[in-house]
Amino acid sequence: MDPIWVAGAATGAWLAPKLWRRIKLSRAKHRSLTGHPRTAVLLSRLVPQVTYDESFAFGVDGAPNEVAAKRREAFLRIAQSLRARAPKTLEASQSLESGVSDVAFVNAYRVPFQFRELVRRHLQVGSIVAETDGPRVADLDGNWAYDLGGSYGVNLFGIEVYKKCIDRAVERARDLGPILGAYHPVIADNVDRLKKISGKDEVSFHMSGTEAVMQAVRLARYHTGRPKAVRFAGAYHGWSDNLQAGVGNPRPVRDLFTLQEMSERTLNLLATRNDIACVLVNPLQAMTPNGPPSGDSTLLASDRKARYDKAAYADWLRRLREVCTKKGIVLILDEVFLGFRLARGGVQEYFGVDADIVTYGKTLGGGLPVGVVCGKRAFMKRYKDDKPADICFARGTFNSHPYVMAAMNEFLRFLDEPETQATYDGLEERWNDRAVKLNAKLEAMGAPVHLENMVSVWTTLYTKPSAYNWMFQYYLREQGLALSWIGTGRMIFSHDLTDADFEQIGQRYLAAAAAMKEDGWWWADAELTNKLLKRRVLKELIRAKLGRSSDRDAHPAAGEAAPHGTA
Ligand code: PMP
Repeated sequence: MDPIWVAGAATGAWLAPKLWRRIKLSRAKHRSLTGHPRTAVLLSRLVPQVTYDESFAFGVDGAPNEVAAKRREAFLRIAQSLRARAPKTLEASQSLESGVSDVAFVNAYRVPFQFRELVRRHLQVGSIVAETDGPRVADLDGNWAYDLGGSYGVNLFGIEVYKKCIDRAVERARDLGPILGAYHPVIADNVDRLKKISGKDEVSFHMSGTEAVMQAVRLARYHTGRPKAVRFAGAYHGWSDNLQAGVGNPRPVRDLFTLQEMSERTLNLLATRNDIACVLVNPLQAMTPNGPPSGDSTLLASDRKARYDKAAYADWLRRLREVCTKKGIVLILDEVFLGFRLARGGVQEYFGVDADIVTYGKTLGGGLPVGVVCGKRAFMKRYKDDKPADICFARGTFNSHPYVMAAMNEFLRFLDEPETQATYDGLEERWNDRAVKLNAKLEAMGAPVHLENMVSVWTTLYTKPSAYNWMFQYYLREQGLALSWIGTGRMIFSHDLTDADFEQIGQRYLAAAAAMKEDGWWWADAELTNKLLKRRVLKELIRAKLGRSSDRDAHPAAGEAAPHGTA
C-alpha cells in the first residue's frame, strides 16, 4: 500500500478520537456566553463605552416625548429626595469613593454603563450605615430602611443573633487573645458539630468562602491525580484566579471546564472522561441554571430569567452524584451561600445529596469572616504515608482565629437550640406563601413585575419589555428598602422577619412598583420587544466601536436624542 495512504490513515485514526473528545466537550457547554468564558472575556474587551446624555436617556425605547419628559421629571425628583434626606451619608460615601476602590467599582456598576454618568451625577446612594435594629438599618442621617441585602447571605437568622454571637465570642476568647497556630479549646466542639451536620469525617478552617473552595479543589486534584475541575455555567465560587473564569478575571483559567448544568450531555461527558478531578456545584444556580448572576447593571431589557424547580434540581444532583461515584470524581457542594438557609443540615439535607466535600462560609462564622471545608477522610488528608514529599499544602495565618472559632461556636449552639430548629418547620411554605401573595398583588395592580424565590432568596423578574427596570432599585430605596449593589436581582431575607415586618416590606415594594408605573418607566407600545431593545443596544455599540456617532435612524422616536460613543 502507498505509504502516504498508510500515514494518512494512521493520522486519521489518531486524530479521530481526539476530535470526537473535543466535540463532546463543546456539546457539553452551554450555548450562551456564560458557557464560554474565554469568548466572553475577548468580547468584553471590544465593548466600547457608550454614554446616554440627558436628552436621549429617557426615551431610548422610542417612547413619546411626553413619556420621556415624565420620566425625566421623576428621575430628578427621586434624585432630589434621596439627596435631601441623606446629606451626611452621601458626603461621607462620596469621600470614600476616591479612596476605596471597591466603592468606586460598585457605584459604577449599579446600573447599565450607558446610564452610568447620568446616575453618577444625580442619583447617588450612600455606602455607609451606622446602626441596625432587627431587620432595619440606619444611615448616618438616621434614615431607617428594611435591609434586603442580607449582608450577602451572612444574615440568615437576624442581625441581632450575630451581634450576640460576636459579643459572646469576644468574652470567651478574651483570656487567650489573638493567639494563632495553637487552638482555642472551643475548636473541638465546632469540629464535632460540623462533622455531625455535614456527615463528613474531617474539617478544615479558612478565612473566606473563596479560600475554602480553593482548598476543596486542590484536595480533589491531589487525591485523584487528575488535572481538570468542572464548574457550571454562571456559577460563582469565589474570585480566585483558578476558579473564576470569564469576565472579571483578566487571565484565562486553565484546567477548568465550564459545562452546562442540568444537561444530559454533561453527564455523558463526565461518564466518558478520565481526567476530571472534581465537579463543583453552587446550588443557588437552581434558581437560574446556566444563568449569569442577576445584577441590575445589565438590565437593558426585561430578559432576566429565573425559575426554581426543587424536584428537578434534586433529580439533577442525584444523577450527578451517580456519575461522580462511578468515575471517582469528587463531588464538591459549595454551600458557602446557601448552607443552613434551606435546612439545618444544609443543602445536602434539603436536596438529599451526599457530597464528598462540602464548603461553608458566610453565616457559619456567626458574623465574623470564615470559610470551612468538610470532607470525607479519603479526600481531606494533606500528605501520603508512603510518599513523604508529596504533600497538599494549605495554611493561612488567620485560619482558626480564636474569636472566629468562638463566634462560630455560638452560631452552632444557636443552630441546635430547639427554638431555632423550630424555625425550619414550614419554612419553605412560609416563604412561598409570601411570594404568592405579593405576586398576586403585583398582578392585580398591573405592575410588570414578578418575584421568583428559592425559600428566602428572591429575585425580581420583569414581565414586559422595558429598558428602565434598573430604575426600580431607586424606587425601592425611596420607599425605605435597602438593597445590595447588585440591586433587584438578589434580595436576601433573614428568617427572623415577622409577618408584620414582611407586610411592611410588601407594602413598600408595591408602593415602589406603583410609583415606577405611574412615572412612565414601563411604557411600552405594541412593537416594543426585548429583542428590539437589545438589537438597538448592539447597534449603538457597533457604531461607537466604529467611531461613528449615532443618527436619527438608530433611534427613530427619540428625536434629537443621541448616545455618545467614546470608544
Ligand atoms: N462560593 C459561593 C457559593 C458564594 O456565594 C461565595 C460568596 N458569594 C463564595 C464562594 C466566596 O465566598 P467569600 O466571599 O467569603 O470569599
